[in-house]
Amino acid sequence: MTTPLSFKRFGVAGNPIAHSRSPFIHEAFARQTGIALHYDRILAPLDGFADAVQAFFQQGGAGLNVTVPFKEQAFALARDHLSARARMAGAVNTLWMENGHLHGCNTDGLGLLNDLERLGHGPAGKRILLVGAGGAARGVVLPLLDAGCATLRVVNRTAERAAQLLAHVLGQAPAAAPRLSAGGLDQAAGPWDIVINATSSSLGDTPPGLPAGCYAPGALAYDMVYAAQATPFMLQARAQGAARTADGLGMLVGQAAASYAIWHGVQPQVEPVLEALRQALYT
Ligand code: NAP
Repeated sequence: MTTPLSFKRFGVAGNPIAHSRSPFIHEAFARQTGIALHYDRILAPLDGFADAVQAFFQQGGAGLNVTVPFKEQAFALARDHLSARARMAGAVNTLWMENGHLHGCNTDGLGLLNDLERLGHGPAGKRILLVGAGGAARGVVLPLLDAGCATLRVVNRTAERAAQLLAHVLGQAPAAAPRLSAGGLDQAAGPWDIVINATSSSLGDTPPGLPAGCYAPGALAYDMVYAAQATPFMLQARAQGAARTADGLGMLVGQAAASYAIWHGVQPQVEPVLEALRQALYT
């Protein structure tokens, strides 16, 4: 099938990429907002991401999402025109051309904030535990602080990485010091109003080794990983007293909505697309 010339081209680059739900999400936003677009999956070679990006924009591409394992490379490619969120995250998931220059942003944090609000657990005034210190955790620390959380503790299996993340954030946002702390998983004891799992542990069969007593009454346990059934982290959280659990599908749709708003200047509605995606994936 050929694409009408009037359709702007967008895409998502990664390796692997066949599993990506981004085309489904962006095409649904396009129908919702009445915008004509074409959105492709782009399998970039592991040693050829920069060439793939260049080819995409030279051939008229308007905007590109970036996923594993290229977010840090996208950050480097757009280093002269990065948003504050991208600089804090050290990673870029949204690229576009403006006046001949490649620009980059990281919308994962906005996706998470949007989903926490949707669930009725907005971060303002909350005590939050963030488990993990990889790219996903890095992308959400500043947005959670900016959204007015009362305290934020980052804990990680490798405590040193959590300490490095803390130092990185405080280097760019020193005023956050009274609200931000870091440590190993043994420093996860709460109570916390929201516990966010930003580790990849749920991709295996084991939850992160969190101690009992993490959850305050009414607390939310949020896993960035999404699945047809409750993840190991969600099951652990229920057993440890979390009042509510959620997976990361809403964050996925939310980060896509934030990319869409950057590219098209229109904020799409997340909820109906999230519902349609859950139906498509799991029923
Ligand atoms: P990453 O950079 O590879 O970091 C992985 C993190 O998981 C590290 O903190 C690592 O700890 C920790 N970890 C791995 N296995 C563990 C285990 N068994 N117990 C405790 N900690 C463990 O990965 P990432 O990019 O941050 O992504 C993390 C997860 O978030 C992935 O599953 C990804 O799919 C998900 N994610 C979802 C969305 C969304 O839109 N829903 C967006 C972004 C990411 P060490 O430092 O000790 O190794």
